[in-house]
Amino acid sequence: MSIVVVGTVAFDTVETPFGRGEHVLGGSATYFSTAASFFTDVSLVAVVGDDFPEEHVIFLKSRNIDTTGLQRNPGKTFRWSGRYGFDLNEAQTLDTQLNVLMDFQPDLPEAYRDAEYLFLANIDPDLQMNVLEQVRKPKLVACDTMNFWISSKPDALRKVLQKVDIVVINEGEARQITGEANLVKAARQIIALGCKRLVVKRGEYGVLMFTAESVFAAPAYPLEEVFDPTGAGDTFAGGFMGYLANTGDLSEEGLRQAIVFGSVMASYNVEDFSLNRMKRLDYHEIQTRFRSFKGLTNFKDISY
Ligand code: AMP
Repeated sequence: MSIVVVGTVAFDTVETPFGRGEHVLGGSATYFSTAASFFTDVSLVAVVGDDFPEEHVIFLKSRNIDTTGLQRNPGKTFRWSGRYGFDLNEAQTLDTQLNVLMDFQPDLPEAYRDAEYLFLANIDPDLQMNVLEQVRKPKLVACDTMNFWISSKPDALRKVLQKVDIVVINEGEARQITGEANLVKAARQIIALGCKRLVVKRGEYGVLMFTAESVFAAPAYPLEEVFDPTGAGDTFAGGFMGYLANTGDLSEEGLRQAIVFGSVMASYNVEDFSLNRMKRLDYHEIQTRFRSFKGLTNFKDISY
């Protein structure tokens, strides 16, 4: 099954203790769709300006991503710049320039409207809702967001959170949305808004998946070299949703496997700047690391 994703396609300028990438390809939809494309067909809904180089579109197409829904409007492409200190878990945003995003009116191609899987990646929550309303009968809808939208559009965001099946956010965002420091309590509050599941990304500490009755924890892969965490969250979501769309298995077991595939994809993405690692990743490597994840948490049960 294919996935429709709406999000940003961006130029990022990123500084980490290990280097700097200037004006590199980024954006929530770019990372998401690239990761998901290893598992399933992806259709992209986003906007870029007339400054966006064709080589990036060629790259997306080379991953078999349907770019019919990628609008090219007059003006400048969305730009984000951020910095990471030695604690690579949280980016400090230095600048956000919405540019063509300000007047973006998503108009889904007819073929996208029957999508069964929909991911509302990090973008203006009004645009997330607009796209959600255009998809007729999705089987699974998930969304992400970030501090920028939590503080600038809290009401619009709340409406989105009430409408989706799965919310995929990082721990800082879960705390910011609820004003609750304890993550388990924050998770309960977000689930109480109406979604069935909450996936909380915790950087190098892994991922927690909550329902009203259960918690599942997966570690992050212990890496010796992390160059650039930008896009790790979107890449995680792409692997997670991509695997779900590929198998159609929405059981607890299937969702847990999807969490690990998401974690595998994110672990590769942080090994290089921008989408460079994704560009040279192959499916065999994904399978190998999935098995290493299994080994990480495999232990013998106690005998009574
Ligand atoms: P992540 O590291 O997975 O949380 O996402 C990083 C990506 O999010 C970068 O490539 C940015 O271009 C994009 N981004 C940054 N700020 C925003 C924003 N306010 N809305 C949408 N996307 C953003």
